[in-house]
Amino acid sequence: MDVCAIKVASKAAKRFVIVVCLIIVGLEGWSSWHERRTVIEDSFRSTANMAVALSQHADQALDEVDIVLKAALEQSTSTGKSAADRTRLHNFLVQNVSDVPQLAGLFIYDEKGAWVASSQPVLETRFNNSDRDYFIHHKEQRFNTAFIGKPVRSKSTGHWVLTMSRRINKPDGSFGGVVLATLDINFFERFYHQFDIGQKGAILFGSNEATVLYRRPLLADSMGKSLTDSPLFQQHVKLADSGAVEIRSTQDGVVRVNSFKHLSNYPLFMIVAVSKDDVLRSWTRHAIEKAVGISFLLLAVCYGGSKMVTQVALRERAQAEAVTAQENLEKMFQLLQVQSRRDGLTGAINRRYFDELLELEVARFGRSGGALSLLMIDVDHFKKYNDSYGHVAGDQCLQKVATAIAEAARREVDVVARYGGEEFAVLLPACGRAGATVVAERICAAVRALAITHPSSEDGVVGVSVGISSIESDKGFTFQPREIVEVADKALYVAKENGRGRAVYREFTYRPPVLVWSA
Ligand code: GH3
Ligand code: MG
Ligand code: MG
Repeated sequence: MDVCAIKVASKAAKRFVIVVCLIIVGLEGWSSWHERRTVIEDSFRSTANMAVALSQHADQALDEVDIVLKAALEQSTSTGKSAADRTRLHNFLVQNVSDVPQLAGLFIYDEKGAWVASSQPVLETRFNNSDRDYFIHHKEQRFNTAFIGKPVRSKSTGHWVLTMSRRINKPDGSFGGVVLATLDINFFERFYHQFDIGQKGAILFGSNEATVLYRRPLLADSMGKSLTDSPLFQQHVKLADSGAVEIRSTQDGVVRVNSFKHLSNYPLFMIVAVSKDDVLRSWTRHAIEKAVGISFLLLAVCYGGSKMVTQVALRERAQAEAVTAQENLEKMFQLLQVQSRRDGLTGAINRRYFDELLELEVARFGRSGGALSLLMIDVDHFKKYNDSYGHVAGDQCLQKVATAIAEAARREVDVVARYGGEEFAVLLPACGRAGATVVAERICAAVRALAITHPSSEDGVVGVSVGISSIESDKGFTFQPREIVEVADKALYVAKENGRGRAVYREFTYRPPVLVWSA
């Protein structure tokens, strides 16, 4: 593995660590976001349930008051003007106020707004209520339905009260006054305080006339405040019976989850709002804790990852070095093998390897039969050549002779070897006498053709003598390698004897082994 591959592997390991970190962050982020959505959805659900419960409560409270109002109306029209009648009417009003907890007071006014009767201990005669919105409403409208007016400060007690009233009709149907019930704000306040709406939550009880009847928490300007500028009222409450919406308050800038519900029997509505910060407070704390935990986990993953990357890089570098070392060793081994088989001066196969090849070839001949020839070649008068031109020139001469011999023995299977000194051997597998003789004479001619001047030679140039030995047989003829060498050597001797620069053939005859009998 090369350096490039190591870098690729290290990069892949780094990418793996980054991907693992991103997956952890992604999964945790997704899970946190999902939890956040669930928390917000839960807040929508719980505020909607609360709005329904509060609207039902208000419906019921107002129904109870209306029953009292109707009874008081009946009582007032049937009661005479005597002192006893007035006392009876007063007692009736007092009794109802004490029986119905949401009632703060009951009042009866004549057609001019003067007090006719009340649940108060003493009947006030110094006030006139003809200026109140409920009075004007009933005077102008002939409806026989209850009217819920804007919250007012009681003229007698100074407390904020909600008003619910009905018109008194004279026998001829003309306006005869008003029966009024004032509702105790504390009654609603006590009830609403039982609900957990968080630090910045709000409960708002309002009328369809866009008026605040009550708000928790109660702000200085809450009571009777107009909601005409409120986007929540204009865009949502006004348009639907119930609903839920997340909206930023124009008053305090707080984002709230608001659920509203209209009362079934009255033109009123209830809004329950919780601040998104309050809703998400515990989720935020949990998310921060988780983020810290995940950060530690990521640090651990990064630390472990960097260790892993380093280990991978180290191991791969070591592997790469080992592979390179092995490749170098193999190359060296191959080079050594080639060198150990070749002669350093001429490049021909050396004597040791030649002996191995000869042995293999003789063995193969024994198994398969066929033909096998061997040429032993000796440079003529080479000692004198050295004497004449020196050893360096002698070496160069030997190199040229080796090349000429190699070119003459052209077949793939032919083996040209330096047998020793200025002697060469050529092994010709699957080659009989005729072929071997042709090759031998080609060698003699080729060396002569080199035209290397040699004054002591018969021809004036360097020449070689060649001894040829051939054997042709069916399979099963076995002999020792040295035997064919000896025959070729003898042929070479004859060539020398006969004047050098020539090739001489000598038959390799089979000599059966001599058997020695022991007595
Ligand atoms: P002949 O024709 O009978 O073969 O005579 P010759 O002189 O060639 O034979 P001899 O055996 O007397 O001499 C061989 C010479 O070859 C002796 C030696 O110096 C020389 N010789 C052997 N190996 C090398 C070699 O590697 N380089 C050189 N320059 N000369 C070598
Ligand atoms: Mg020799
Ligand atoms: Mg010689």
